Amino acid sequence: MENKEIYLGSHVGMGAPDYYLGSVKEALSYGSNTFMFYTGAPQNSFRKPLNELKIHEGRKLIEESGIDESKIVVHAPYIINAANRSSLEIYEKSIELIISELRRTYAFGAKIMVLHPGSHVGFGSDYGISALAEALDVALANDGTDVKIAIETMAGKGKEIGITFEEVESIIEKCKFKDRIGVCLDTCHISDAGYDVKERFAEVIEKFDKVIGINRLLVVHVNDSKNPIGAHKDRHENIGYGFIGFDALYHVVHHPKLSGIPMILETPYYNEKAPYKQEIEMLRSGKFVNWRD
Ligand code: FE
Ligand code: FE
Ligand code: ZN
Repeated sequence: MENKEIYLGSHVGMGAPDYYLGSVKEALSYGSNTFMFYTGAPQNSFRKPLNELKIHEGRKLIEESGIDESKIVVHAPYIINAANRSSLEIYEKSIELIISELRRTYAFGAKIMVLHPGSHVGFGSDYGISALAEALDVALANDGTDVKIAIETMAGKGKEIGITFEEVESIIEKCKFKDRIGVCLDTCHISDAGYDVKERFAEVIEKFDKVIGINRLLVVHVNDSKNPIGAHKDRHENIGYGFIGFDALYHVVHHPKLSGIPMILETPYYNEKAPYKQEIEMLRSGKFVNWRD
């Protein structure tokens, strides 16, 4: 019954006392066959040493449970902003952080790191795109790993870059290490950016293929949105409770051109409880169950 080509999981925590072993256990408890995690707090650069994170124990459980390690995803801390060169200090710190996170991702055995393209802070998208592309080239020339960076499509709030497929493509096009750069498509973000995920997802994917190339797609973030198409807000909602709706997100997960790509839920907790077990079950089966009340 289960479609083996669908890799579906969620964002999971990585905290004391079990760290990475705990992340894997959490993912398995939701019925996931992939997952995404931060190697430390997303909003700062403090990182616990790798030898305290039970990586070996976690990887052992991954192997025993039959999870394909190449589908596991790390999310880089979102304090990184490599699209702004007006403060050289922040820019260089961001490059350093990209390098150290690529190395940490590699140490966990993961192969994909999602990165927010960042904010041009008022200097314009072209400025931000060039700054980011040069930062990526420096990072990818110096990290010494084979981890791929997946640039996440953004909702378009504030001064973000990477909102349209054309912008994401021009970042990649400017990079020397193209074979190590791909894209993370976030359904909430692209809907907020103006792409019609709800009614015309097949056309959205065709457009993605034409502008960027479907072979660049490394990760899908499956989220409903609290806001209508084009709202530029970036507020995630539980699957089936937002503007995009259950049917459209079911089609995303089962779209034949997306098979084999890790799909990660980043939907909000409800009454302090993780929604992922229910959401994964519903997205696999196609049957929506109102679990929120
Ligand atoms: Fe993200
Ligand atoms: Fe996302
Ligand atoms: Zn978001």
